[in-house]
Amino acid sequence: MSDDRVPLVELTEATKIYRGGMLSKTSTIALDHVSLTIRGDTPQVVSVVGESGSGKSTLASLLLGFIAPTEGTVRFQGRDIAKLRGAELGQFRREVQAVFQDPFSVFNPFYKVDHVLTVPIQKFKLARSTAQRQEMMITALEAVGLRPDETLGRYPHQLSGGQRQRVIVARALMLKPKLIIADEPVSMVDASLRATILESLRTVNRTLNVPILYITHDLGTAYHVSDHILVMYRGSIVEAGAVETVIDAPQHPYTRLLIDSIPWPDPQQAWGSERATASELEVPEQHPGCRFADRCPAAEAHCLDAPPPNYLIKEGHVAACYLYRDRPALGGEAFRQVLATESPSSS
Ligand code: ADP
Ligand code: MG
Repeated sequence: MSDDRVPLVELTEATKIYRGGMLSKTSTIALDHVSLTIRGDTPQVVSVVGESGSGKSTLASLLLGFIAPTEGTVRFQGRDIAKLRGAELGQFRREVQAVFQDPFSVFNPFYKVDHVLTVPIQKFKLARSTAQRQEMMITALEAVGLRPDETLGRYPHQLSGGQRQRVIVARALMLKPKLIIADEPVSMVDASLRATILESLRTVNRTLNVPILYITHDLGTAYHVSDHILVMYRGSIVEAGAVETVIDAPQHPYTRLLIDSIPWPDPQQAWGSERATASELEVPEQHPGCRFADRCPAAEAHCLDAPPPNYLIKEGHVAACYLYRDRPALGGEAFRQVLATESPSSS
């Protein structure tokens, strides 16, 4: 039985280092001591945003158990997922579902769309009869806003990109997941179809109470679908909080840069106003301090001494930047607290 006090997923000081080949001395710190908790009892949409290469997919792969952390642990309902075997591993594979960027790669063009739904039903023995199988598929398709009679019996190319991606969400749903991890689910579909896919994820979250980790490089869509947001920069979470708070009052210079660089439809927000430039500070290539220092307009010499801790801006809002060094500094538990705080939009 699941205990609601045990977090659904818990990352503790998780680090992932990709080493170069045998002859290469280079290694990439894709994820740098990231701690974070996703609870199952207050299902939210949590967005992870950051530019390409910031470690978002590495975070997703760790949470899905595709890769193991170099240091630290990833727990699912209190169990270290690296140690799951047999039935427990099977249950984990079923309960944590992924939706990826390219829905087309999941479909075999020679099989009808039904195939991607019937395979998991067979694999996980979800249905006892053909009638029950059919009913499951219909329920799942309807839950994501698709009309079963217009979806089943078709071939993948007969559906739009948005419909295909929603079939994938439906497939995830049939498995009654406890968490859905969606890594750039709309970045390869037409802008006009993005809204419907994101809407279906939001509906799944709201009506079926499934928490969703929505990974994107697009702050705009994150703003529309999520309750909380985590901003990543070069393997670290640099800011976190309720989405309105972070977007309306960003505290970390990197978040400010991200927000300033997109054309917001909101007239209150000036277009690309005062694009920040890096400070005059001379930043050596290697230093133990803040990884954003070389691009930061507010960088000062002391920023290069050690990585900034997570400062508490206010209840439920944290930023890892020395600009806030007069505030309370939190350790790895900082982002747990943020996500444990009710978002104003989730009530
Ligand atoms: P994002 O999803 O935010 O674009 P990734 O998690 O894919 O970022 O990558 C983070 C960093 O790790 C990047 O510098 C990337 O080049 C590196 N990286 C990712 N996967 C591998 C891999 N399999 N081998 C080596 N380096 C990798
Ligand atoms: Mg990625």
